[in-house]
Amino acid sequence: MSRVLIAGAGPAGIMAALRLSESLPGSQITIVEKGKPLEDRICPLISIGRCANCRPCSMVSGWGGAGAYSDGKLNVTGAVGGLLPQLLGESHFDSLVPTIMEIFRQHGAPAETDNSLDKREVEDMRRKATLLGMKLITFPIVHLGTDKTRYVLGRMYETLLKRGVQVLFGSSLIDLVVKDGRVIGGVLEDGRTIDADFVILAVGRSGADDLTRWVKKLGLTFETNPVDIGVRVEVPAEVLDPFTETLYEVKLEYYSKAFEDRVRTFCMNPHGEVVKENLDDVITVNGHSYKEKQLPNTNFAVLVSTHFTEPFKDPVAYGKHVARLANLLSDGIIVQRLGDLVSGRRSTWERIRRSLVRPSLQDAVPGDLNAVIPRRQMESIVEFLMLMDKFAPGVGSRDTLLYGVEVKFYSMRPKLTSSLESEVQNLYMVGDGAGITRGLFQAAMSGVVVADSIRERIL
Ligand SMILES: Cc1cc2nc3c(=O)[nH]c(=O)nc-3n(C[C@H](O)[C@H](O)[C@H](O)COP(=O)(O)OP(=O)(O)OC[C@H]3O[C@@H](n4cnc5c(N)ncnc54)[C@H](O)[C@@H]3O)c2cc1C
Repeated sequence: MSRVLIAGAGPAGIMAALRLSESLPGSQITIVEKGKPLEDRICPLISIGRCANCRPCSMVSGWGGAGAYSDGKLNVTGAVGGLLPQLLGESHFDSLVPTIMEIFRQHGAPAETDNSLDKREVEDMRRKATLLGMKLITFPIVHLGTDKTRYVLGRMYETLLKRGVQVLFGSSLIDLVVKDGRVIGGVLEDGRTIDADFVILAVGRSGADDLTRWVKKLGLTFETNPVDIGVRVEVPAEVLDPFTETLYEVKLEYYSKAFEDRVRTFCMNPHGEVVKENLDDVITVNGHSYKEKQLPNTNFAVLVSTHFTEPFKDPVAYGKHVARLANLLSDGIIVQRLGDLVSGRRSTWERIRRSLVRPSLQDAVPGDLNAVIPRRQMESIVEFLMLMDKFAPGVGSRDTLLYGVEVKFYSMRPKLTSSLESEVQNLYMVGDGAGITRGLFQAAMSGVVVADSIRERIL
């Protein structure tokens, strides 16, 4: 009987366990998760609007990983959300798409997508973007919504328990046991060693520091990824309804004139709300929407990618440093009207109250993002918003709200094979923690890829 140890119960770890327990029913699978079961994951930031600095943070840790509190938008594509098409090859990626969707559906996800892409109006939108020098990226989206996401995750847990998978909550993997270039187990925080023939590291962004430590300790090859810094933008939903009603999410990409940096929209939430996110030691901003509840505003992020080369190799520290500046000035998140930002003055509650957009995040502090975000990113963000205003009139309004800082850290990327196996034999690295995915769909697919590889090796 083969023993498989999975560290992390996010979409990558859960999907690996689901696929493996189905295709190799006799195997002994153990998931160790440093967070709590789904029903015990109560984030004070969501329940009472204040972060209590829980350790581990229930927003990103526990059954379902960072996905449990997420908006549950499955971007069914290789165009965004990770590097899997490059790593696996386009045809392998495409062949796995129906498998991933089927697993989600079996556990309660809807069969239909939330957008229709074959319409004439989509072509018109694409042409309009092209004329402005922007690229409109379209793909099928299945929107579970924050509420349905937890339901699907709960059903996946039940399936795994029925199949005899062992799940240990409150258990952190702290080290790996490697012998003769091959992994043979993992060490938990409480001192226990779990022997295993295969180990899958699915630790997500919250476990990226652990993964970096192991990679360095084992002397493995790795690359650094860019860091994305930006703001969350909030507009009246009417401004983007003509686009979101067809596309659901407007994914625009542009290279700024100011610095030729890549700027893009990210994680659009039609009729949604802006939320705080606690990344262990910094507070950043994010957004989500509900499947059943329609709120008056639409929000999305505008992110600028910065890729450091020599000699600096710590993009995560850089991103956190910028986010910490906002935390220092506001004790959390700064909110500013676009008109105030462009005029070089801070926002006040008085000015914000006069504006068309009612802020959905109530405990942000009016301030000046010019004092926080470096010129390189800020100029590109303003240039992008003014251009986007020509695509969707109203985005560049004086009253548009900007919340800062939104930062997307991507973990360092260890060298992996096309089966996502590391340079240590039988040691696999998947999901956001390995720096190869940036969203639910590709994270889930990475779990299935390693499960298939392990199955093939055993058989
Ligand atoms: C607020 C929010 C909204 C989002 N919305 C969307 C969305 O709508 N669509 C989308 O595609 N993506 C979204 N994302 C991103 C998505 O959630 C992640 O890309 C995805 O969850 C990554 O999956 P993963 O399995 O790699 O890692 P994670 O989901 O981060 O899971 C990793 C798990 O490993 C555990 N862990 C870490 N270290 C250890 C250790 N040493 N030992 C044991 N366990 C450990 C963690 O506690 C965690 O539970 C959102 C993220 C956030 C935070």
